[in-house]
Amino acid sequence: MFEKSTWIRLPRNVVVGHGVRDEVLDVIDDLHLQGRPLFVTSPTPREVAADPIAADFEAAGIEPAIVTIEKATFEAVEQVIEVAEAEDVSYLVGIGGGKAIDIAKLASHHLEMGFLSVPTAASHDGIVSNRGSVPDGDSRHSVAAEPPLAVVADTGILAEAPWELTTAGCADIISNYTAVMDWRLAQRLKDVEYSEYAAALSEMTAEILVDNADLIRPGLEESAWIVTKALMSSGVAMSIAGSSRPASGAEHLFSHQLDRLAPEAALHGHQVGVGSILTAYLHQGEDGIWWDIRDALSSIDAPTTADDLGIDDETVIEALTTCHEIRDRYTILGDGMNERAARDVATKTGVIE
Ligand SMILES: [Zn+2]
Repeated sequence: MFEKSTWIRLPRNVVVGHGVRDEVLDVIDDLHLQGRPLFVTSPTPREVAADPIAADFEAAGIEPAIVTIEKATFEAVEQVIEVAEAEDVSYLVGIGGGKAIDIAKLASHHLEMGFLSVPTAASHDGIVSNRGSVPDGDSRHSVAAEPPLAVVADTGILAEAPWELTTAGCADIISNYTAVMDWRLAQRLKDVEYSEYAAALSEMTAEILVDNADLIRPGLEESAWIVTKALMSSGVAMSIAGSSRPASGAEHLFSHQLDRLAPEAALHGHQVGVGSILTAYLHQGEDGIWWDIRDALSSIDAPTTADDLGIDDETVIEALTTCHEIRDRYTILGDGMNERAARDVATKTGVIE
């Protein structure tokens, strides 16, 4: 008897385009959301997006509550929950880069309320996924939550974001290649739950991005469009899989460990990009896809070396040899690399000198 069942939870409305910041109210109407919203934002996104959107709401007779957060921490999530309860709001709107959206996502999950995602930077796939991530002590944890009810991505605003945030978003997508390799390996060796649809979608997303790498240039609004759509489909792949596996393998473990060893040295996407060069080499050796990953990263000005990341070689080696310990996720790193092997792969790929 066939007894399997699965839930795939996706955003209902995804609105991408120039000036769609003005359409947030229409989306609220379409979702039949009633009552008062709480906007969760951070200082710069507040100016470029949250305040103008609040003005639209006020003109329509809705008074949004607003929380401006400075740092992505568990305390910030608690603060948002407190304000939501005190102000008697009925849904949340995360307006900002990854930070504000992750916090809105985690708070809305706790409050059992819906939330909307209004990204102002295309910096990682958290803007659409069902995964939330905030630092926890000296590490960073990815927590299961719900995907947003809707995503409203204004490419006019996204194109104005600092360029490095966009290249970080690209690198996060390029890393799907190695995430999927790790997923397949784990399926073969450990029989982990696997979805061919999610894996294919995730890989195809990375491929489309790499094929369009020469259209990804600073100041080009089309770049923001390409990257945002890729982040969406990467998020959809995670929703289909019901896990972050399609977009998170050993390269993400490596990045999480760098967050711990060298806090705030480099952006998430940039770290996973470099991690992806290393783990692609581990999967396929000298003649594999690591060359393509490295070329794609360097063509969009994303880091390809420890030096580009602003992290010293020894820290990279330490991350590479210890990151398999941080979570129970089987990858090409197996039960860990020894130091000589780590030095060897990092040198051969040019990540360290
Ligand atoms: Zn990522």
